[in-house]
Order: sequence, then structure tokens, then C-alpha cells
Amino acid sequence: MASWIERLKAGLAKTAKLLDVRSWLGRTVDQSFLERLEAQLLQADVGVKATERLLQKVKEGFEGKTADEDLLAFVKAELINLLTPAGGAPEAIRYAPTPPTTLLIAGVNGSGKTTSVAKLTHRIRSEGKSLVLAACDTFRAAAADQLAVWAQRTGADLVRGQTGADPASVAHDACDRALARKADVLMVDTAGRLHTQTHLMRELEKIRNVLQRKIPNAPHEVFLVLDGTAGQNAIRQAEMFSKSIGCTGIILTKLDGTAKGGVAVAIRQTLDLPVRFIGVGEGIDDLQPFRAEEFVASLFG
Ligand code: GDP
Repeated sequence: MASWIERLKAGLAKTAKLLDVRSWLGRTVDQSFLERLEAQLLQADVGVKATERLLQKVKEGFEGKTADEDLLAFVKAELINLLTPAGGAPEAIRYAPTPPTTLLIAGVNGSGKTTSVAKLTHRIRSEGKSLVLAACDTFRAAAADQLAVWAQRTGADLVRGQTGADPASVAHDACDRALARKADVLMVDTAGRLHTQTHLMRELEKIRNVLQRKIPNAPHEVFLVLDGTAGQNAIRQAEMFSKSIGCTGIILTKLDGTAKGGVAVAIRQTLDLPVRFIGVGEGIDDLQPFRAEEFVASLFG
């Protein structure tokens, strides 16, 4: 089986191919070089702000020189810098000192939320932690069924309601179950029907309030799942969810399906939220903790 760094590399291959950093070598860093670099960075969805900053620095440091390994190392370091939060990168999941660590997972339908929750279930159980999973999207029976499969496979405890049941009451029951069983982790999956935006946000707030009432300092993490191929749309979604429920991190999915992996930089630059995990495939192991160094190294081949 491929190691996780190989999976990461394979997952980011499309973006790496677009950037094609080895092709920079030996060229003179002139106007045409800078224009090409600008086009590549923008196509990779790095964002206008970060692209301008990077170009300015390359121009200052290397204009008139021949692009060499030093230039690659410089751009690599700058990208890592752009991706690293001011206070340093947090752990992939910050476990609370007093269990259950409560994770609230939000995101619009189609973002890869159910898949990401399944992958997180697998990860948390592989760490030997006991887990109660709350399927609060009571309208999509298929999503809850998918979680039931993973709960059973990994030995997690699933709490779900009847179709159409009040999601907050499912969250309530799940809190009771997690407390009664002294579970290490409670993970709450939520609905993502965006066409009823105000309703959705109210529903999420209600779930969050239940968690807050039942478990001290909960939710400890609020992860927003964003489709890495959604570009600016993803950023708008993040702003909306953050305003409503206050996110603590992003799970950025489907980076394997896109040459626009640079969106991780744009997200970091636009939102004050760290990317905590990235999805680089459909397999259960294809959710990787986000680490700026390894992410950028994978883009550089
Ligand atoms: P939800 O509606 O947000 O719950 O989305 P799903 O979890 O059902 O995912 C929607 C589709 O995206 C499914 O076909 C998933 O297999 C796929 N998907 C989710 N995450 C990834 C990923 O990281 N890479 C790829 N290639 N596909 C993904």
C-alpha cells in the first residue's frame, strides 16, 4: 500500500503538473517568465493577493538571473509561509482535556461531508478512541446509511433519528449516549441543504446550542467541509458558515480531482481559518492532516 506521502503526492498531481516547477529551471527571470508564473499561480487558484505578493518577491530577489534550485526553494518557502497560520499550525484534531471531545461537522451537500465524516470515523477509531457518531442530517437517509456502515465497520456507536426527525433532538440523544458511555469523541454530522440557507443556519445554531448546553466547552472543533474544486464559491461558503456557527478549521476535499490545489493558499489568505485536513481521493485513508511543508513539497514533485 502506498505511504501517505505517496498518496498525498498522487492526490496533488494535477496541481503539480499545472505548476510544473522543473520547467522554470534554466529560464531567465524576465517579464515573460513572471507573466507565465503569474498565469500558473492564478490557474492553480492561489488567489490574486497571494500571487501578487509572491511575484513581487521573486522579482525583487531574482529578476535578470537564471531560474535555479535557489529560486524553487525560495518559492517553496514563501508558499509554506503563506499557508501557515500566524500562531503556528494547530494539531489536526485538538482533543479536549475532558472527554468527550465534540466535533461538529458542517458543509453544503456535495462538498464531500459524508465521505469526510466516514474517513474521520476511521481515523479516530484507528487511534483507539471510542466514538459516538450523530447522524443529524435526518433528511438524507442514504448519508446516514453510509455512516452506519462505517460505524459498524470501525466499532463506533451511531445515533440516528427517523427520517425528518428534529436534528437537534438527535444531537441531544447523542450527547447523552456519549456521556453515558464516557466516549472519547462525539462527532456530529449535519445537514447541508443550501437552498434553505436561513433554515440551515438556524438548524446548525440549534445543534450547536444543544452541544454547548450538554457538554462543557463544546463544540471543541467546528470543521467546515469545502469542495476544493469550488474556487471562490468555497470561500463564500466559508464566510457564511463562519458567521453563523464559528468554524475552527477547514476540511478541503477533492484536491485529487483538480489542478486548483492552490485554493488552500487562497483560503488561508482570505479567511482566518486553518486547513486541518485535505481529501486527496475517495478511499477511506485519503483524508490527510494538512501540513504546509508536505503539501508544498508534494506540489514541487
Ligand atoms: P456530501 O453531499 O457533502 O455528504 O458529499 P459526499 O461525501 O457524498 O461526496 C460527494 C462525492 O464526492 C462522492 O462521490 C464522494 O466519493 C466524492 N468525494 C468526497 N471527497 C472526495 C475526495 O477527497 N476526492 C475525490 N476524488 N472525491 C471525493
